[in-house]
Amino acid sequence: MSATTNDLYTSIDWDAVTDETVRHLQELIRKRTVNPPGNEIEAAEYLADLLADEGLEPVVIESAPRRGNVIVRLQGNGEAPPILLFSHLDVVPVEPEQWTRDPFGGDVADGMVWGRGAIDMKGIVAMQLMTVLLLHRLGVPLRRDVIFAATADEEVGGELGMGYLVEHHPDLIRADVALTEFGGFNVEVAGQTFYLVQAGEKGICQFRVRARGTPGHGSLPHDDNAVVKLSDAVTRLGRASLPYKRTPVAEAFVQGLARHMGGVPGLIMRLLAVPAVAPTLIRRLPMPAGTRRTLYAMFHNTVTPTMLQAGEKVNVIPSQAEALVDARILPGDDQERLFAQVREVIGDGYELEVHAYSPPVEQPLDHPMWRIMAETLERHAPGAHVIPYILSGSTDAKHVHRLGITCYGFSPMYLPPGLNFETLAHGHDERIPISALRFGVPVLFEVVHKYAASLPPPLSGPCQ
Ligand SMILES: [Zn+2]
Repeated sequence: MSATTNDLYTSIDWDAVTDETVRHLQELIRKRTVNPPGNEIEAAEYLADLLADEGLEPVVIESAPRRGNVIVRLQGNGEAPPILLFSHLDVVPVEPEQWTRDPFGGDVADGMVWGRGAIDMKGIVAMQLMTVLLLHRLGVPLRRDVIFAATADEEVGGELGMGYLVEHHPDLIRADVALTEFGGFNVEVAGQTFYLVQAGEKGICQFRVRARGTPGHGSLPHDDNAVVKLSDAVTRLGRASLPYKRTPVAEAFVQGLARHMGGVPGLIMRLLAVPAVAPTLIRRLPMPAGTRRTLYAMFHNTVTPTMLQAGEKVNVIPSQAEALVDARILPGDDQERLFAQVREVIGDGYELEVHAYSPPVEQPLDHPMWRIMAETLERHAPGAHVIPYILSGSTDAKHVHRLGITCYGFSPMYLPPGLNFETLAHGHDERIPISALRFGVPVLFEVVHKYAASLPPPLSGPCQ
């Protein structure tokens, strides 16, 4: 690492930075931004005020009354296109009686910050904010603009948040690469530590299946009952396994695990990328149910019936019955291909209609940003391995991707044993260890610095 860059990193008092990150996170948790209704303006104004106090020029955009989005830009010299750090300010609802602490108290206890959004994703808002503040305070010369955008509405689709910015203010957020949530955290597998960086998201294809039949009186049953026909389709879909499909990121995921696991477990991982045996292995191998579901979702389109609607009166056979199905599709697939697979399962005789659609996204693994993220994480977490994965759910990356921005889920944090990112997000007693922030902020700062600063990026060497 160059002396100058190393000096920069070691000159920062990371413990003080962590304290400041915690304070901002506590304040953000105390802004009640449960979506619906959202009310993100309170959090957006909090961020805008403190950015303005630092001499920056934040923009607050209200996409609808009280739906606040805040954007700020650190100016680079224009030599290279911007990098975007984006996050969301809204959170999912809580069942307060299930919590040990006030979900909106922002308490610090047991070395953690407690509250709705601590992990998903106000903790990450605070980490991104600190990265931007540090670059600004230190007067780091940049060859790229660094854009920070904290938006509304992600938890219900993002149409009033990132979707709105992409549609109405694309120039505020245009970049060549972006970093966001759902990646950069550790998981322990077979005694090894892996950091998962999100390099793809499944697409959403929620659709309606409609069965039509002959109406009639409930007292005179017949063979053309729409309810019965629909039930048949729903049962088939619920039990179906759509074809196995290998995508580059999923293949890199299992190969990455295999390389470091070794022995029989490593061999099994490797076989998950072999179409002839993988589907059987995923079905049959003894493994925890959660792991099986995750592996299955990474190699298959999935169809989950979730809502049913039929009939008005118990003694009337209705002329139609409908089900809504939540399907998630892998990169490389689309709605047409999914519907062809669905027809294979349920046969003809049903109407299929798209209810909501957003395409899957997959990111390159040979991007310079990938190398910087992997190298930085592996240096801060000696002995750990960085591998990509595909998120079965979806984030605002689906909107950002529409502007042609390469987007990774990268919010670095080390979670101690017993804490799992996916369980904490949206769970009761959501919380984030302060040590996760102490680990994450320096890593994120270093990654953004290496990518955006006008000094040549350092390649290796010790770092505090
Ligand atoms: Zn989130």
